[in-house]
Amino acid sequence: MRKKLIGSFLFISIFIGGIYTHLYMHKINHYSIPEELLKTKNKIHNIENLTNKEWETLLNFKNIPKYKYKKKYIEIAESIRPILGSENGYTIGSIILEDILLNGELSNEEKLYILNKLRILKNNPYNLVENIQCTMEYIQLGQFVGDRYHIAKGKVALATIFSGLKGYEIANKILEEVLRENNGEINILALINLSENYLFLGEYDKVLENIEKVNNYKKYYDDKYLIDIEVIKNSILCETYTKLKNKDKALEYLKKAEYYLNNVKGNYFIGKELVYETALEYYNLQFNFEQLNENKIYKTLKCAEEKNNLRFIYTSYDLLFEYYKKIENFEKYYNLKKKYDLKIKEINEMNYEILTLYTINSIESGIIARNNILLKKKLWGLFGMSLFLIIGIIFLLELFLKSKKNIRIDELTEIYNRKAFNEDIERLKNQDYYMVIFDIDNFKKINDEYGHPFGDRVLKKVSRRISNKLGKKKNTFFYRIGGEEFIIIFKKISKEEVIYECECIRMAVELLKWKNKELKVTISGGLSKGQENIYEICDKLLYKSKKNGKNKILNNL
Ligand code: GH3
Ligand code: MG
Ligand code: MG
Repeated sequence: MRKKLIGSFLFISIFIGGIYTHLYMHKINHYSIPEELLKTKNKIHNIENLTNKEWETLLNFKNIPKYKYKKKYIEIAESIRPILGSENGYTIGSIILEDILLNGELSNEEKLYILNKLRILKNNPYNLVENIQCTMEYIQLGQFVGDRYHIAKGKVALATIFSGLKGYEIANKILEEVLRENNGEINILALINLSENYLFLGEYDKVLENIEKVNNYKKYYDDKYLIDIEVIKNSILCETYTKLKNKDKALEYLKKAEYYLNNVKGNYFIGKELVYETALEYYNLQFNFEQLNENKIYKTLKCAEEKNNLRFIYTSYDLLFEYYKKIENFEKYYNLKKKYDLKIKEINEMNYEILTLYTINSIESGIIARNNILLKKKLWGLFGMSLFLIIGIIFLLELFLKSKKNIRIDELTEIYNRKAFNEDIERLKNQDYYMVIFDIDNFKKINDEYGHPFGDRVLKKVSRRISNKLGKKKNTFFYRIGGEEFIIIFKKISKEEVIYECECIRMAVELLKWKNKELKVTISGGLSKGQENIYEICDKLLYKSKKNGKNKILNNL
């Protein structure tokens, strides 16, 4: 029985993991939000709800023409700062940042800047899916650009999300990876997070070991940051020694933390007060009980809730529980327990719902339709949590395997890119294959008439149509090798079949429907059998197709 249970649990886990990987691979360089989620987002249609400040921010943004996004992206991103704490701030902020991401024609570095802001904005326990998705995209783009600092920052953020879900082991694996891969200021952040996780796990020797290492990286920081780091470091040490029931040491570090906290120059970590308050409250609970009262803990809790900081929401509840136990007020204890359970349930359900919607929305394959019922009935509750753990494992696997897939994918069309083509063609030497190069006809005119963003959409739609046409065949590879030029490699296929396939593709593009009824998008190409100079041969045939009236794929077979 037990084996069966574990077996089916693993099976479902792997299944869902698979789905996620599938989604993940498809969305690699592309941020998209399912329609259902957008609907919730569109609450904003209720304009009366907006405060003046929110209204003003939104209007100011709407007055900026899209072509100016690129020039003003920093200014726009900064413009949402004043509304961040307000009721609709999150929604409006997301709308604005996502709009620039989508329509700003930003470079990858500029996108990283915006994604970083968006990631911080989405740091919300009630919507972990968007939070994780955004963070992963940030990491992926960081990897794509080769920016180690952003990669590391993203990984630390991801670890924080998992810590918030009490997935400390996974979080620590990510953090240890960051520590291995980096040797700079980001290590301090990773070490602090790592120590806090070990504190939660009750592994105090590891807390002490890691928090000490913070000193190794001090040289990367300037003084005013170091002051904050000292507050956090000493608070963690105080809490650790409190838990080890070593009053002298706990007090010593508490005093140090307090000293640094009162230093006006520190202004870097906004969460430092929370760390200090928590340490102080644990200290008082253990050694100085008359100094502790529930209002103080409630204040910390409120502060943690305002900052959406799950970690300190949990510690505050823990403190309150311990407090009520100590004063033997079991009525308050049980009332609070109810409230706490409800909160956890709320967080789980919210994320579960979004995740289900997300999964159902994003997957077209038939298997999923069958499993929707399964998802709905069986995975309720329990899976809310484990799903994220699974996503974490998959993510780690991705990291471990150092998958180069994203480097091989074209950002716009999500098919293979030129780099992938160059690598693959090397491997194909002496093998039997066919190659077709094709190019969209009169694409410059499309750009000129309908604008560059529309041109991009044409590229996407054409690639998607062809990808769908080709299906998931093992022996067919589809690349975008430049602007509006594509290549398909066919292996294990007969001459007749490959000519037929190319004709189908040409026709599929020709038959695509466009909003503007007058628009017609066609392709011309050249098809040949694998040999030396194949590229030049196909290119000549392509040229011939263009000269002979376009919308055709010529071959020399
Ligand atoms: P032909 O039928 O002979 O192929 O004519 P054409 O206009 O398609 O060919 P040409 O090579 O003159 O123009 C290709 C245009 O494609 C020029 C360039 O601005 C545009 N282009 C290249 N890459 C992109 C892209 O990523 N997005 C968009 N929207 N346009 C692009
Ligand atoms: Mg061209
Ligand atoms: Mg062209």
